[in-house]
Amino acid sequence: MITILTYHDILPELGPQHYSVTVRRLEEHLDVLRCSGMIPVDPSLLPTPDRIGSASFFLTFDDGHELHAKLTAPLLAEHGIRGIFFVPSQRLNRPGFLKTADIQTMSEAGHLFGLHGHLHRRLDKLNPKELESDFSASIQTFRSIIGQTPWIFAPVGGYLSPVLRTAAFSQGIRCLRTMRWGLNHHPDPMNLETIPVHRDFLPQTLETILEAGRFGGGYRIKEILKHALPDNLYKVLRERLSRANQSPSLGS
Ligand SMILES: [Zn+2]
Repeated sequence: MITILTYHDILPELGPQHYSVTVRRLEEHLDVLRCSGMIPVDPSLLPTPDRIGSASFFLTFDDGHELHAKLTAPLLAEHGIRGIFFVPSQRLNRPGFLKTADIQTMSEAGHLFGLHGHLHRRLDKLNPKELESDFSASIQTFRSIIGQTPWIFAPVGGYLSPVLRTAAFSQGIRCLRTMRWGLNHHPDPMNLETIPVHRDFLPQTLETILEAGRFGGGYRIKEILKHALPDNLYKVLRERLSRANQSPSLGS
């Protein structure tokens, strides 16, 4: 079982965004993982899950927020954890987002960077030519900063399509973190499942999931709602249900 948690912004105090999580809450989650006997693993092993132990976890952080460098990366280092950061490359150096120097420093500290769209738009809506251009822009950006080509990818909003999968693979992507709920009992590097973490996701909820070794009930209903409802309505519903049920997030 390879448990992957998906975070977004990590803040000193609770923010209004559904996905913002406090530093304290992240630390509580880390305590739960540690007490459960889960081991943080080098992210570079993800393409070869056979080399990863059965009680392993990875932490991923989406969207390239500037506090990922100032708060999250130092906290992970204290716990001996290398994070995986999915950064929309066009946001780099913009106010509130990671700077070029942050990427270099975090990369040198062992954290891994993955693709998350250049413009952070829905990639499943793009044609192959547009996808090639979006991937190329991101890849060139990371190559110029850290001298490496990213091989892990998280589609924006979790929206996937066969065309997008093909484009990602042809661009050298060998690991794909979906937003599909699950604990990767039979890890498929190009279909990695995750636990999306939102601001009301209690440590006890994580503990229950890990003890049960099961997570994912309700995912299909969530997907139907996500695709059937207008975006704004879906987001309101998602927040209400997540709070009411103390469930992990209904996903991006
Ligand atoms: Zn995102």
